[in-house]
Amino acid sequence: MFESFFASKNSLLESLPEVRGKYIENAKLSKHTWFGVGGPAEVMYIPEDEEDLKLFLLKKPDVVPVTVIGGGSNLLIRDGGILGVVIKLDSQFFKKIEFDGSYLTVGAGVKNSDLKKVLIENEIGGLEFITSVPGRIGGLLRTNAGCFGNNVSNVLVKARIMNDWGEIYEVEKEDFNFSYRSSTFPENWIILDATFECAKKEKSEIKKILDEQKKYREEHQPINKRTAGSTFKNPEGLSAWKLIQDAGCQGLKVGGAEVSDKHANFLINSGNATAQDIEELGELIVEKVKEKTSIVLEWEVRRMGVKK
Ligand SMILES: Cc1cc2nc3c(=O)[nH]c(=O)nc-3n(C[C@H](O)[C@H](O)[C@H](O)COP(=O)(O)OP(=O)(O)OC[C@H]3O[C@@H](n4cnc5c(N)ncnc54)[C@H](O)[C@@H]3O)c2cc1C
Repeated sequence: MFESFFASKNSLLESLPEVRGKYIENAKLSKHTWFGVGGPAEVMYIPEDEEDLKLFLLKKPDVVPVTVIGGGSNLLIRDGGILGVVIKLDSQFFKKIEFDGSYLTVGAGVKNSDLKKVLIENEIGGLEFITSVPGRIGGLLRTNAGCFGNNVSNVLVKARIMNDWGEIYEVEKEDFNFSYRSSTFPENWIILDATFECAKKEKSEIKKILDEQKKYREEHQPINKRTAGSTFKNPEGLSAWKLIQDAGCQGLKVGGAEVSDKHANFLINSGNATAQDIEELGELIVEKVKEKTSIVLEWEVRRMGVKK
């Protein structure tokens, strides 16, 4: 349906409403993902503010699909790119941070790592783990990200979301239906901001935790490589990295994609990988682990877009 609609236009852009934000045609999504692979977005849209986003959603043709991305740290975008419009909440409006003494409200476009300074300055404890997860606040909620024994569902109080009619709602933590590394809130909800619980903590203690987290990551994960973090979810009571290692997958390569020798659940673009290389390597791992253990690993990395 979308393709036939599109065939009647010279370009998708022509069919989109006028906005105050920015449209980028054929936007290179490889520049917006940690893997550094993937084809283009037909159009990328950077809304100026909530009102601009609302009018875009209301006025765009219904058949035009919309995909929201955050920091691209959990995404494998396929080589054919993403049809329709890719929205990134990248304007200053979506990067506001407010602390009222008890709760911290953070815009969906804020990079998690940017919260380090805020936590220290305001002596806010309990949210340190968030700052070590790559990506942004919107993606953090969608993926129920977590580490160091904590996860977002433990610290989130509420969030504001926009549905595809441009209506804004305040939703409680329970409405997200969080489970391990996922949430089942509707795909069409765009997270606008999130409010977190805060506990008072001494600056020195926060700094110590941040340093420990950094050290742990540097020692155990290939954080300076092109990767999307853990590729597969841990099956209940088991570690995906151990299953992958025991199935003899460390060192496996497909084209420019390889399994990290530092952490077996991390796939790496060693320089010239395509999204297809990475996906094929992932599927090969699934096969090998299944052969050895009968366990079918479930992708944690979100695969999006079309194959070339
Ligand atoms: C080196 C490395 C280490 C990592 N370590 C961890 C870890 O310890 N723990 C962990 O949980 N994850 C980890 N990850 C994975 C990743 O950082 C998290 O999943 C992160 O929360 C994704 O956020 P993002 O902004 O990059 O989202 P993206 O990857 O851009 O998107 C992820 C999902 O969120 C959706 N989304 C993004 N923004 C919005 C929005 N505003 N509204 C609605 N939906 C939205 C997207 O549609 C997509 O479905 C790691 C990744 C890397 C590269």
